[in-house]
Amino acid sequence: MSIVAKSLSRIKPSPTIAVTDLARRLKAEGRDIIGLGAGEPDFDTPDHIKEAAIAAIRRGETKYTNVDGTPELKAAIARKFKRENGLDYSPQQITVGAGGKQVLYNALMATLDPGDEVVIPAPYWVSYPDMVLLAGGVPVFVPCPENRGFKLRPEDLDAAITPRTKWVILCSPSNPTGAAYTRAELAELAEVLLRHPHVWVMSDDIYEHLVYDDFEFATIAQVEPRLYPRTLTVNGVSKAYCMTGWRIGYAGGPAELVKAMAVVQSQSTSNPCSISQAAAVAALDGDQSFIARNNAIFKERRDLVVRELNRAPGLRCAKPEGAFYVYPSCAGVIGKRTPEGRAIETSEDFARYLLESVGVAVVHGSAFGLDPYFRISYATATPVLEEACRRIVRACEALR
Ligand code: PMP
Ligand code: GLU
Repeated sequence: MSIVAKSLSRIKPSPTIAVTDLARRLKAEGRDIIGLGAGEPDFDTPDHIKEAAIAAIRRGETKYTNVDGTPELKAAIARKFKRENGLDYSPQQITVGAGGKQVLYNALMATLDPGDEVVIPAPYWVSYPDMVLLAGGVPVFVPCPENRGFKLRPEDLDAAITPRTKWVILCSPSNPTGAAYTRAELAELAEVLLRHPHVWVMSDDIYEHLVYDDFEFATIAQVEPRLYPRTLTVNGVSKAYCMTGWRIGYAGGPAELVKAMAVVQSQSTSNPCSISQAAAVAALDGDQSFIARNNAIFKERRDLVVRELNRAPGLRCAKPEGAFYVYPSCAGVIGKRTPEGRAIETSEDFARYLLESVGVAVVHGSAFGLDPYFRISYATATPVLEEACRRIVRACEALR
């Protein structure tokens, strides 16, 4: 009999992490691999943030802290929510975890009873459904096709809600599509949610700062203050501050929920790294100008990737509002054959073909729940991206 719990059979390893690990391993073996799987900025953490961490070590801030965040970091987060989102959260309404991922996990663990439903617009970030399943909940997927901008329509949200619905998860700008909701679109979704007072909203704002072409980010608790009492606004420093390895995420929400989330964390990891928390204070309170500089580079890369991929026979790539992903359709290569005669039947076949034939690692769309697509992260040096696009075009041209 296996040592592994039956509950674990409900989930699988994170496919985005699996692709990233595979690319890293092949590279270490000496293969010429370009990894476009990882969802993390290639930019280094800014120096003033690193210095704050070094100073914290020197001050001896190397001990356990409050489980759900130091008073200093909670105060900096409260200032951030007020300044950038117009949201008032007191320290009792703020929680800090080891990444946005842990915060989302805590929230689901703390709130889901067996059979509780969570509405997840598809395509979705790979970890939402598995976290729900591990917590004993039931993911309810709502397809959001490309011709609707990969966005949830109010009528489809309404139709997905049942008496068992506990949460709806919104992610804007989206991983994997980069699609972002306008204020007006959020207001329409809010109107539906106001009619269903038992449904809570998890707003994953981790890509808040990564928007282009003057797109204005908005978050639902701000757009519809009547939803504030049942919204968890999740964010983190990983993406905008180039701090993926530091593992700091946070959320603001009703005190009862936030307190329950701290219970989960107190019995798993305790506080997030004390040094990273000091660094996160410097990130949130410090100079923000590098974000705009990074975004100018991300925007150029997005435009490059969209332009080049649309040259590849069989691919079609929409231009998204934000994040650092594109989600091209590979419908036009399905049914074709590789030069070796292997049939491309799924997005997974296509991703494998790209890796084996031209050494480009991407994540297959089936991992995100809307196919046939694949995800490219363009958070990679521009010349490398140019080379990757040339290789993808070449690989598509070789299909028959
Ligand atoms: N939400 C989304 C949509 C993400 O893409 C990520 C990145 N993996 C996270 C949350 C969590 O990021 P982190 O744990 O690094 O804060
Ligand atoms: N969010 C990133 C991604 O989607 C990091 C990996 C993960 O946690 O899924 O690639």
